[in-house]
Amino acid sequence: MAKYIGPVCKLCRREGEKLFLKGERCFSPKCAFDRRSFAPGQHGRVASRGGGGATGRESDYARQLRAKQKARRVYGVLERQFRRYYEVALRQRGLTGLNLLQILESRLDNVIFRLGYASSRAQARLLVTHGHFTVNGRRTDVPSMLLSAGDMVQVREGSRNLTYFKDLPAQAESRPAPAWLSRDAKNLSGTVQRLPERAEIDGNLTEQLIVEYYSR
Ligand code: SF4
Repeated sequence: MAKYIGPVCKLCRREGEKLFLKGERCFSPKCAFDRRSFAPGQHGRVASRGGGGATGRESDYARQLRAKQKARRVYGVLERQFRRYYEVALRQRGLTGLNLLQILESRLDNVIFRLGYASSRAQARLLVTHGHFTVNGRRTDVPSMLLSAGDMVQVREGSRNLTYFKDLPAQAESRPAPAWLSRDAKNLSGTVQRLPERAEIDGNLTEQLIVEYYSR
């Protein structure tokens, strides 16, 4: 199971906006983007003023590429798997871009993050790989597992005594859960009610550009 292991904050600086990849740190003065909001590298400051990042003078291809990279980075998915998701989305009925976002949202690590049981998708991913969660009563360590309506996620019985999970119900209650998920924070569980609608998926993503990127 491959994952990106490079410097995370550089990804925000490269995309020219905060992607909120590090949980609480993103809201603190330690946020690297707040301190250096220009692209990384030797020419980062110049690129941020000119054609690089999300600013003007970009070709269509550059805009499509950036849109795709941003979505990949927000959800923590590597290129090969992201393309596979696109191909599945393409075969489904309806709008390919929305299908793609719904697939990304239905990943187990994302659902745990959305339920408020982790402060970032990266943390959710770690908790899953350490075997702290069950899906429909069965333990799993696969963060990329895709959930559908009716699937129930719960913190495993044997993990509930860990300090992190003892404090979790109160922490989770302080984070809003989206309407497409139902959360039972006292039980440290949550159920997928349905797939999210477009308006319920935040992150300032432009799925149409992603579709254009892969349709070239
Ligand atoms: Fe991005 Fe968070 Fe790092 Fe700030 S702290 S640069 S928002 S990952």
